Amino acid sequence: LAKRTGRGCVRFFTRELQDEADRRVQLIRDLRRALEQEQLAVHYQPVVDLRGGAMIKAEALLRWRHPELGLISPSVFIPVAEDTGLIRDIGEWVFRQVAHDTAGLRRQHGEAFQVSFNMSPVQFQRGSTGFADWLRLLQDLGLPGSALIVEITEGLLLNGSLAVRDTLLMFRDAGIGVAVDDFGTGYSSLAYLQRFDVDVLKIDQSFVRDIARQPTTEALCEAVVVMAHKLGLQVIAEGVETADQLALLRRIGCDQAQGFLCAEAMPVDALLAWSPGAVPALNTATLAGASAP
Ligand code: C2E
Ligand code: MG
Ligand code: MG
Ligand code: MG
Repeated sequence: LAKRTGRGCVRFFTRELQDEADRRVQLIRDLRRALEQEQLAVHYQPVVDLRGGAMIKAEALLRWRHPELGLISPSVFIPVAEDTGLIRDIGEWVFRQVAHDTAGLRRQHGEAFQVSFNMSPVQFQRGSTGFADWLRLLQDLGLPGSALIVEITEGLLLNGSLAVRDTLLMFRDAGIGVAVDDFGTGYSSLAYLQRFDVDVLKIDQSFVRDIARQPTTEALCEAVVVMAHKLGLQVIAEGVETADQLALLRRIGCDQAQGFLCAEAMPVDALLAWSPGAVPALNTATLAGASAP
């Protein structure tokens, strides 16, 4: 290929790779600083109940405001944080932030309100001992574990090491819920749902995107909902962007929805004031109409 496209082209590609590598080195250096300089923030995206339309949960999503590059997406910097091990410190910081914010959010939105947070597989590698501090923090804040839900991926459960099991058991004993994130994008083995105590399945947004367009996707999602309910799990649909998707999800019995149709992730102060009343697709008349045969 190098010969056929000539030297200039090879030089061009190498240059691009070099730029890419440079950017990565810069990102690693800056990410270390971001934690100390308070460039990170946790935002919260509402999760609404598909029966009554109320906001009953929120998901904590990390944001990085880089001083020169602006807002950087977690799908860009989380992988870098995982490769470098920085995800451990970041994860500690996220948990503390979430715990504090959740205490305030429950005062505003009620004691049934729950907040979920994402954990990387890398954070599970050290075993459960590191998490004793987390439980102490909850105690200090007077926050029951049941106020929180940890979101993990299918891959973590599939590779289910003893350390993972121990940690999840410890969370469970503390009352913290467990959700499987991006459900359906990993391997198709469902055996792990029996082996681990899971409370919530989050249907990945790639399915939600197609649900109103492809009958097969709708059938698949409906089967997931039926299975989940038989196993005693709740189902949340991620990435709901249209009223059609919402109506369909509701019709197939999906419990909760999260997506830009309702709201994007927002700072905690905004979530304290947020109400689903502003979302037309969620008002009770519309919801009732959508359920009519
Ligand atoms: P996730 O946990 O699956 O989070 C859902 C992602 O979908 C979020 O992207 C959210 O902003 C986006 N989203 C929500 N509704 C819609 C919608 O209607 N349409 C579209 N197109 N997207 C929607 P975000 O915030 O960029 O986060 C990306 C991923 O980064 C997360 O996926 C999660 O895996 C990871 N992440 C975020 N925060 C943390 C964290 O604190 N710790 C760890 N370990 N990972 C995190
Ligand atoms: Mg998530
Ligand atoms: Mg997800
Ligand atoms: Mg995702």
